Amino acid sequence: PTVFDALTGRFGDIFDRLKKRGALSEEDVGAVMREVRVALLEADVALPVVKDFVTRVRERAVGAEVLRSITPGQQVVKIVHDELVAMLGAESETIDLAAVAPVPVLMVGLQGSGKTTTTAKIALRLKDKERKRVLMASLDVRRPAAQEQLRVLGEQAGVPTLPIVAGQQPVEIARRAMETGRLEGYDVVLLDTAGRLSIDEALMDEVVAVRDATKPHETLLVVDAMTGQDAVETAKRFDERVTLTGIVMTRVDGDARGGAALSMRAVTGKPIKLLGVGERIDALESFHPERVAGRILG
Ligand code: GDP
Repeated sequence: PTVFDALTGRFGDIFDRLKKRGALSEEDVGAVMREVRVALLEADVALPVVKDFVTRVRERAVGAEVLRSITPGQQVVKIVHDELVAMLGAESETIDLAAVAPVPVLMVGLQGSGKTTTTAKIALRLKDKERKRVLMASLDVRRPAAQEQLRVLGEQAGVPTLPIVAGQQPVEIARRAMETGRLEGYDVVLLDTAGRLSIDEALMDEVVAVRDATKPHETLLVVDAMTGQDAVETAKRFDERVTLTGIVMTRVDGDARGGAALSMRAVTGKPIKLLGVGERIDALESFHPERVAGRILG
């Protein structure tokens, strides 16, 4: 199951009926789009995103070519598909490693979002799929078990972690990680910052200090799909302070409503690059707008 399933079911009902119909009038399109609007809002998609989407589809759908075609219902579904893809960002984006090695990648997010697990998942993926030499470092000195958690995950992934030095502060650890990365010839250094239960100044100041010390090429925010619109709000707040380059959305395998994934790009302008789809260390997928739209439309 994924967060898109509920919407897939709703859209299936709406569009199966539509496709069976012959001629369509402007009023028919209006009625269908009212149903689409309700379905998107119930899936927790942000209101401005829904309004914009419905307006665009309606404008294109009431055109003469569509309504007078032999299969107007299918034409409308095609427009919905295209506009969904546009809403999700059109192109599928990957982690950009085109920089001088070792490439610093900063992982940020709230506590419990899945940040540490995702860091290890990304490390495994870069190692196996892109043949990169990856070093991971935990900068979380607040939660006593955090650095040890990353080390254990690193062992599962077969990816080394920076040796833990008791008493070091996040910026010092980050500098040591980059230095080790340079001296030992790593391609990528993944920096797992500490999270908090909610956004506060201390969290942001720490992330900013680490960013200034390491000049990350990618700054990836990990957010939990289950938190709905809060995930989008979190992305806005982080982006204001540290300029995100992408989003990783976790727990897409859960039964959340999908609205966060659907609104993220349109609201924040930042691409979702990866999806966390389970607890296992290999449960990470690329985000393909085309595939997600295809999936939602059955
Ligand atoms: P952090 O506090 O942000 O570092 O979160 P953790 O990485 O410790 O993850 C918290 C919990 O979420 C762990 O039990 C993970 O196994 C779980 N988790 C992380 N990502 C996913 C995911 O994509 N799907 C599911 N079902 N669980 C996940």
